[in-house]
Amino acid sequence: MLRLDGNLVAKARQTRLIQEISTFRTQTGKPPGLAVVLVGQDPASQIYVRNKVKTCEALGMRSFRFDLPAETSEAALLEHISVLNHDPHVHGILVQLPLPSQINEDNVLAAIAPAKDPDGLTYENLGLLWGGRRRVAPCTPAGVMAILEHYQIPVAGRRAVVVGRSNIVGKPMAQLLLDANATVTICHSKTVDLEAQTRGAEIVVVAAGRERFLGKSAFAKDAVVIDVGMHRPSAGAFQGKVCGDVRWEELDGWVRAATPVPGGVGPMTIQMLMENTLHLARLLET
Ligand code: NAP
Repeated sequence: MLRLDGNLVAKARQTRLIQEISTFRTQTGKPPGLAVVLVGQDPASQIYVRNKVKTCEALGMRSFRFDLPAETSEAALLEHISVLNHDPHVHGILVQLPLPSQINEDNVLAAIAPAKDPDGLTYENLGLLWGGRRRVAPCTPAGVMAILEHYQIPVAGRRAVVVGRSNIVGKPMAQLLLDANATVTICHSKTVDLEAQTRGAEIVVVAAGRERFLGKSAFAKDAVVIDVGMHRPSAGAFQGKVCGDVRWEELDGWVRAATPVPGGVGPMTIQMLMENTLHLARLLET
């Protein structure tokens, strides 16, 4: 089984990205800028934000980190976003989710200027994606496509199943596979006989958010399996470790290729965030 290594793909793309960022700086006189807003002190979110800021700087982009108190009101956060929307040094705005319960996530997403939305999650950017006029693609599905491209896995004409239909992963994933001319089926929690669906596919992207719930029996011989799931179990054999939606250890000798967790889709998400930020910066500045 071929191990689809997201760290390796991200590294390969980083080399090119550093060069592109340097060219952008020379042409415009300023670096691409990413603002990252964290509300509260969720430990996992703090790690994600720290990694994003660190990656930005390592690549030659500028980061603006804002740590707002957990009791920040929705109005105050919206005001903050409005200031960033007008800041000429900021080309991308990322509000780390989840947000505290007093803040409505939809309202916050809607407040981000679509031209500065490197996650591609505002309704305008999702609409452009569905309409075939993509500005940016959401980072995790874009990262999956980059892995398939890097390993030269053919997508056109293939049967692909996406397990999950969230706006962040499942639906845009299906759209990107469709754009690449796969024949796509989307499965979800009401799908009857899920494994009959997944077994019929040459490419299966699993993004159900259910710890280790699919194994060998769910996949056709020689399928390509992409595991988007990310879990840190608090009990059981995987306690304290990171695992995905798929029982990876069952796949060897059966499927053709699969992404591990960790080290598969995860590193690609942050890479695509950086690529999207540069892309938006170019659209805004040139
Ligand atoms: P989500 O919003 O909870 O969506 C999960 C989707 O899976 C839903 O559409 C749900 O169906 C479907 N589902 C749940 N149980 C199912 C089952 N038994 N059979 C078939 N479908 C089922 O989750 P998400 O935000 O899309 O994220 C999915 C996973 O990806 C999570 O583990 C998350 O941590 C991970 N993730 C990883 C990255 C990364 O960078 N690696 C980035 C984002 C997310 P219904 O719509 O019917 O409820």
